[in-house]
Amino acid sequence: MVTSRLWSVVIVAVLFVGCAPPRTTLRSINTVRAGSSRSGGPVQPGARAIRMGPTCEALEGERGVGVLHVRARDGAWESRCFRKTSRSIGRPNGGRLEGGETLPPAGPGWIQKGRNAVGTNEGIALLLASIEDVRARYPGTVPIRIGDLSREDGGRLRPHKSHQSGRDVDIGYYARGNRALRRFEKMTAETIDASKTWHFVERLLLTGQVQYIFMSYRIQEVLYLTALDSGWGEQDLRGIFQYPRGHQAKRGVIRHAKGHQDHLHVRFRCPASDTDCTP
Ligand SMILES: [Zn+2]
Repeated sequence: MVTSRLWSVVIVAVLFVGCAPPRTTLRSINTVRAGSSRSGGPVQPGARAIRMGPTCEALEGERGVGVLHVRARDGAWESRCFRKTSRSIGRPNGGRLEGGETLPPAGPGWIQKGRNAVGTNEGIALLLASIEDVRARYPGTVPIRIGDLSREDGGRLRPHKSHQSGRDVDIGYYARGNRALRRFEKMTAETIDASKTWHFVERLLLTGQVQYIFMSYRIQEVLYLTALDSGWGEQDLRGIFQYPRGHQAKRGVIRHAKGHQDHLHVRFRCPASDTDCTP
């Protein structure tokens, strides 16, 4: 396991210039937002075809360094290096985790309750990068509430079916009025802070590393409308939301699943170098 201190020391952000990352399978998040000046371009970070900045190169070979690419707010690419210790093995519903990283119980912008706080290095880095982004956009925001990730070595974690291979994480919604949640709370159009929650979800999606987000259909509707308002086009959102095609439609990254009115569940893609990971 890697401690938070180590994490913060080894995550080095450098500007990433001139990269031509490989294609993404999530076409819609490549597109430029309507009315925005962001340039388009593939979002898929992928571990190959990556030109590392000098700081990343200095770390390489020491003990295994991973690199992730995230889209900064101005549309530029940013690469992040981290020590790679984790291996996600098998499926989320029947797998395990080796060398996972523990998310500390609290940090800037988040609170995690419970013992099952271990995930892949990639998942934790992407999650914290997205939270960091919310804090930049909403200074003084209450922390987001994080629930289960995986157990230390992964494997069965009741009452979940998945959460076995370090790629799943349960996360509470942001409530209106910057109200802190004491536990996961069922949200409605009236109680959820849709703008802040969508901002968070959008940042996660722009990493190109999210396979699914499980979210109640009713909450999807709220965030869908918020996304439209913020400049996304209907066409762009088709690949992102299952809404409005009905809660059983097998379309979109964001899917309905029972019990997700009080939290969303993010499943990250298999980390590029985890060859035993099963999507
Ligand atoms: Zn879950």
